[in-house]
Amino acid sequence: LSSVRVVVVGAGVVGFSTAVCIAESLPLCSVTLLAETFSPDTTSDGAAGILFSSTFPDISLERQKCWFKDSFDHLLAIAQSPHSSEAGVVLISGWQIFKEVPADKKPFWWDTVIGFRFMTDRELRRFPEYKFGQGFTTLKCECSSYLPWLEKRFRKAGGLVEKRKVNSLEDLSHHYDVIVNCSGLGSKLLAGDHKVYPVRGQVLKMEAPWLKHFIRDGDGKTYIFPGIHSVTVGGTRQVDDWRLQVDERDKESILARCSRLEPSLSSARVLSNWVGLRPGRRSPRVEKELVLLQGRRVPVVHNYGHGGLGVGLAWGTALDAFGLVRQCLHDMPLQAKL
Ligand SMILES: Cc1cc2nc3c(=O)[nH]c(=O)nc-3n(C[C@H](O)[C@H](O)[C@H](O)COP(=O)(O)OP(=O)(O)OC[C@H]3O[C@@H](n4cnc5c(N)ncnc54)[C@H](O)[C@@H]3O)c2cc1C
Repeated sequence: LSSVRVVVVGAGVVGFSTAVCIAESLPLCSVTLLAETFSPDTTSDGAAGILFSSTFPDISLERQKCWFKDSFDHLLAIAQSPHSSEAGVVLISGWQIFKEVPADKKPFWWDTVIGFRFMTDRELRRFPEYKFGQGFTTLKCECSSYLPWLEKRFRKAGGLVEKRKVNSLEDLSHHYDVIVNCSGLGSKLLAGDHKVYPVRGQVLKMEAPWLKHFIRDGDGKTYIFPGIHSVTVGGTRQVDDWRLQVDERDKESILARCSRLEPSLSSARVLSNWVGLRPGRRSPRVEKELVLLQGRRVPVVHNYGHGGLGVGLAWGTALDAFGLVRQCLHDMPLQAKL
């Protein structure tokens, strides 16, 4: 395998997780990570990075469970190691609350997170507009620390890093034997995938160190996620909205909604505002295909389209994508591997 060259496109949480899995497991391959933007300028950087999941229609439940559990176990081990603070991965407890009782009171990931339970009436009294709630302990992975930490791990495993935009997969076909596409929303152009669309999310980072528990409305639009250095307060989910600038009306709406859930926020200082575009897709695409590039059939492994769940699914889908890369190597003609 010593001359096999693998390239991973994308330096978000999906790209770096995938690149680390490949470089650490296949030390004889040359692995290059190539991206237009790196931390702190990726979508992953601004995500609250809370681990929970929802159900994708086109992926078997068993596979989704694996993605979530593999990610959870990987990050839990980091949270419980001396690397926790440098990697920005911590345990956090809190509540997910619902205005209407959901059909699925017990989501598939209930036994992966820690201490999952239904909230008691006494606990719910604090949220008079809500009828039902779940309490659990999960993880928070702050990508502004986690991505530089993964990059260090990748370089230590011999990985190479290059900053540039890839205009088409053809650009890569001469230099690499396997292409791994982790370009998130960029896949709309790079993979010509019209099923990919932006889901705009605006958040505020606030100074409120007294807040220790997360509160999330089950509709995914309103949440308060305390972190290591600030509290992420959100948000919006605007489908097909490409605007990256901060919208004042969104900001007012977020503050009003979140202060209703947590009145003490009204005295907290706003540290910054941030907008990110989630790589929306009906279901993430984790699959391999052979693409005809400049007369050659080149194996391409796709790993993108994680929507609002990319931080929580990155390691699991990275392991899956790594398995597909290994299959590509196995299927390659012998002389290419020598
Ligand atoms: C407000 C908000 C809150 C969120 N909260 C959570 C949360 O609590 N939990 C959770 O799990 N997820 C959350 N998410 C979702 C999460 O941010 C995404 O699912 C995740 O960041 C996707 O990671 P990615 O690596 O696929 O994409 P990105 O982080 O966008 O990275 C894509 C990479 O590909 C590169 N690229 C793209 N096109 C090209 C090209 N042509 N050439 C070279 N490089 C290219 C980019 O430069 C970048 O490096 C949130 C998102 C938002 C916006």
